[in-house]
Amino acid sequence: MKQGQKMMDGETIHRNINGGWMRPAVFGAMDGLVSNFALMVGVAGGSQAVGIENTTAIVLAGFAGLLAGAFSMAAGEYTSVASQAELAMAEIEIEKNELRQNPDAEIKELAEVWIKRGVSETVAMQFSKELSNNFEAFADAHTSEEFGVTAGDLPSAKMAAISSFIAFAAGATVPLVPYLLGSTKIVYSMIISLIGLFGAGAMVSLVTTRTWWYSGTRQLLIGSGAAAITWFLGTTIGAAL
Ligand SMILES: [Zn+2]
Repeated sequence: MKQGQKMMDGETIHRNINGGWMRPAVFGAMDGLVSNFALMVGVAGGSQAVGIENTTAIVLAGFAGLLAGAFSMAAGEYTSVASQAELAMAEIEIEKNELRQNPDAEIKELAEVWIKRGVSETVAMQFSKELSNNFEAFADAHTSEEFGVTAGDLPSAKMAAISSFIAFAAGATVPLVPYLLGSTKIVYSMIISLIGLFGAGAMVSLVTTRTWWYSGTRQLLIGSGAAAITWFLGTTIGAAL
């Protein structure tokens, strides 16, 4: 039983490295970069249309966009993960009640899982019976076989919210960096954002099957397309004001 627990823990660590935090971190950062880059370019275009490039307005828009986007991402992520965990906890409680009310049938049910995989009936029944002496481990075995989760394995909504806030904010900071270093020209934001888009896209290839240059170029095109649209809208609306 200790061996089984250890294997399950190892599996958890493995899964977290691949899909747990890496994926939302990269996608959250890309989200922040694309949306803030497009927002700042839109304001730059709009202010250029009415005369001069308004650095104050661009930087204010950048900070507001960073905070608004990061809070909205965190809130969305919190709600999504929390409701998912609550749903799983409710299912786990139902399963635990079944284990308490019908322990013999549940011992047999778990044994059958192993019998189907080729374990002999004697060994499977003995294993299941012994495991049932530890109620929590027995419940974990049932819930992970039946719907793929255990009580200790549920993602934390708070951690999900904090990490998506940080990821979005990190991406959204990229187009602001030249201004923080004293620049007054949107063109430097554009250059660093395009580099950032390519880099973020290339990083996505680590969790997909695409090559780094394909993912990088695709992200570069999507991000610069979004910025081109907001630039066009900004200049059009700016000129109309
Ligand atoms: Zn069961």
